[in-house]
Amino acid sequence: MKMRLFTLTVCLAAMFLVFPLSHRSSAGEGPVIAHGEETWKERKSSHFIIYYKSAPPDFIKSVEEMAEYYYEEITRNMGFTRYKNWGWDERAKIYIYDNAEDFQQIGEYAKWSEGVASSRERVIRSFPAAHGFFDSTLPHEMAHIIFREFVGFKAKIPIWFEEGVAMYQEKARRWGANDTVRQAIKDGKFISLNDMTAIELSGRMNTEMIQLFYAESASIVNYIIDELGQQRFVNFCRKAKDGDPFEWVFTSVYVRFRDLDALNKAWVEYLER
Ligand SMILES: [Zn+2]
Repeated sequence: MKMRLFTLTVCLAAMFLVFPLSHRSSAGEGPVIAHGEETWKERKSSHFIIYYKSAPPDFIKSVEEMAEYYYEEITRNMGFTRYKNWGWDERAKIYIYDNAEDFQQIGEYAKWSEGVASSRERVIRSFPAAHGFFDSTLPHEMAHIIFREFVGFKAKIPIWFEEGVAMYQEKARRWGANDTVRQAIKDGKFISLNDMTAIELSGRMNTEMIQLFYAESASIVNYIIDELGQQRFVNFCRKAKDGDPFEWVFTSVYVRFRDLDALNKAWVEYLER
């Protein structure tokens, strides 16, 4: 259940990135904020404005402290050293809904998630009881925004890469992912990177497959950043900005791989070592 909730959380952020316009027009930012505006209290820090209703002040204080901590941690983890500053009116907004039910009012898709991120608006929405709020949800959603801002909105990034980067910030997730993928290889259920790239996630996919998709995403991005090197990862991010096809950009930075199949092979060999 834990894994399932986690899986669906990350799925949601991906869908925001895939369908930003439809989300904004149907469940859009505007009406949600305007509607409940008078009920939101706010707390401001250097890089964040936290909006909340009845959440306890000490929880909100922790949100502020942890968000500021992750802001440094994530940019350092990914090697984004000259990352633009979220100061003053550039601050990110974190909406803390009172509970799951309150949170779910923001849209249909919120029913199966614990947190959502909108990179363009630099907004995160979640609620205190969200699974692993401080260890998973918060760093995951922040990583989505930081990564997207760094690569830019023209960059063509497959969902597995985007989700893998977000999960890279959840330390607990990094441990289990490789084992899950090894087991899938043994069971003949492994999804190749080419298939991962082609997959369009949807609510109709079965849970087991979505879980495997996320475990593989975490595992391959761990491999890319930790094994192939942070500097190369940063170079890739810079080069992706122009919006060229993913595989082309990837292989032009990671020159030892001719294509995604070659990366797939190296990753599987690494796991089987
Ligand atoms: Zn995600």
